[in-house]
Amino acid sequence: MSKQRVQPLADRHGRVATDLRVSLIDRCNLRCTYCMPAEGLDWLPNEDVLTDDEVVRLIRIGVERLGITAVRFTGGEPLLRKGLVDVVRRTKQLRPTPETSLTTNALGLGRVAGALRDAGLDRVNVSLDTVRREDFARITLRDRFDDVITGLEAARAAGLEPVKVNAVLLRGINDDQAPELLRWCLDHGYHLRFIEQMPLDPQHGWMRSTMVTADEILESLQREFVLTEARRPRGSQPAEEFLVDGGPFTVGVIASVTRPFCGDCDRVRLTADGQVRNCLFAREESDLRTPLRNGADDDEIARRWVAAMAGKLPGHGIDDPSFLQPTRPMSAIGG
Ligand code: SAM
Repeated sequence: MSKQRVQPLADRHGRVATDLRVSLIDRCNLRCTYCMPAEGLDWLPNEDVLTDDEVVRLIRIGVERLGITAVRFTGGEPLLRKGLVDVVRRTKQLRPTPETSLTTNALGLGRVAGALRDAGLDRVNVSLDTVRREDFARITLRDRFDDVITGLEAARAAGLEPVKVNAVLLRGINDDQAPELLRWCLDHGYHLRFIEQMPLDPQHGWMRSTMVTADEILESLQREFVLTEARRPRGSQPAEEFLVDGGPFTVGVIASVTRPFCGDCDRVRLTADGQVRNCLFAREESDLRTPLRNGADDDEIARRWVAAMAGKLPGHGIDDPSFLQPTRPMSAIGG
């Protein structure tokens, strides 16, 4: 490791980003109706997408110079990225070694979970909004429920634990399925977290008045389970954790809309085409790909990255009347 002085990714509101979300691709093999239209989107041109070497170089700068301690790979669907295993391996070889995780729909995870573990991946979060096969096909527009289950089992068998399941509840589709999902996850030993639906869909169909809120989710869970707040300090974790029936199992709720946690945010995002985003909802990005390809040295890249973080707004402003959804949808930012 080169001995550099670490310059933290600090903003003007006292927060420091240490958790890097790296989108490796904007394409996906599901079409979750709240995330992507049936016909897909205009994908990034191949030449705009960072190469494996470019991604690893940016991660290295983040880890060695900017205090990044955790790297989560996401997309689009990161398992569609050919070089994923190698990118994970090279990331784990950096010093100080970052924690690594993957957010995935698990299609194909059955085949690569072992290789990802061998490459040093620590954990996976698998997105699964329902355990009813017909509803899965209805939400994702693909009949691939069994593949997700195979992927989840493979993740556990490979030791990518705790295996987390992330679920979004949608009004009129699966909003009554919170207890069923929790029961299923408890039975299978997966850690469930519900995520409130956010205004990040390309169709702009999200409505504050119809989204399923954390309060509703907790209320419906409490009809079947006793939930008590887990006492561990939450820190920058987005999920509020609750002990289920006295523990030890817990369930999490990520209430980005109704109980925002921006004041504790420690995240920064890198898109597949090399743009730094200091917030999921940011309307501005900072281009690292162009300087990277124009021969900028690590100092220059680090300087631009630090500058990009300084302007992070205090909050996402979803509840502000002037809120405008970012141009990029969730799948192109990296959730
Ligand atoms: N394809 C991978 C997956 O399915 O996990 C990674 C990318 S996907 C965009 C990451 C997560 O974002 C998924 O759990 C998905 O349910 C969630 N997501 C997508 N659109 C969302 C929205 N508008 N609000 C909340 N979560 C959303």
